[in-house]
Amino acid sequence: MTKTTKPTLDSTIFDSILQIKNFFNNFFLKTSVNGNGAKDTFKIIYQRFFFMVSIPLLLSCSAGDDLDSVAIEPEFATPEKIIKVNIIYVESSETLDKSSYSLDETEFINYLNGEYFHRFGIGLELGESKSLINEELYDLRDNEGSEPSTFLMQSQESYDKSKVNIYIVKRCNILGIAGIGRDQRVLITDENLFTSTAPHEIGHALGLFHSHESENIMNTVNKNSRHNFNEDQEKKIKNRIDQINLKN
Ligand SMILES: [Zn+2]
Repeated sequence: MTKTTKPTLDSTIFDSILQIKNFFNNFFLKTSVNGNGAKDTFKIIYQRFFFMVSIPLLLSCSAGDDLDSVAIEPEFATPEKIIKVNIIYVESSETLDKSSYSLDETEFINYLNGEYFHRFGIGLELGESKSLINEELYDLRDNEGSEPSTFLMQSQESYDKSKVNIYIVKRCNILGIAGIGRDQRVLITDENLFTSTAPHEIGHALGLFHSHESENIMNTVNKNSRHNFNEDQEKKIKNRIDQINLKN
């Protein structure tokens, strides 16, 4: 397994801003002895410009925390166990016409296999994809605090018992939850599809509980370093896949 740490941009940009600031400060120090009106005006303009440019830059950098995340090389192999995955786009009756999700499903399944599942002999295969109109699931803000039970209840009729079912909702319609996973069902926000939340919730959907191991996919603390299933988890998932596939 190869690990690569991507550099953080914050310090680089901050250094550059300081260098520019120092250059101009030196310039004004040298010229201010014989300063005239034009130079003073220029100095005020420069100071305002510096303030306007640097503050948003620093703020936007601090928001990019995911630049610090640890990525690993995707790895593809012929899996020992294969499970089919249905993708269900949750819509409201008002949004259905807009086809509001734009997910490349093949890319998503490749991401899950390459980054997480194939290296453990587990393969996800795209089943069907469909839209589901369900107002309760579409806007989960009304069910804050009871999202998991709402999800299980509302998906009871629509989930395929011979597959893993991934329900995708809009990030803006759920508060403080990245995903839910249980009983062959995953609910995940569109913003978290290509993050370790996806394999984590699939792990739950296939019977796994949380783990304290630092790089374990079922860890809840350090989301940026989640890469592995341990041997017990791998065995448990494979047994569960066998049970599910018997229903086919
Ligand atoms: Zn969890």
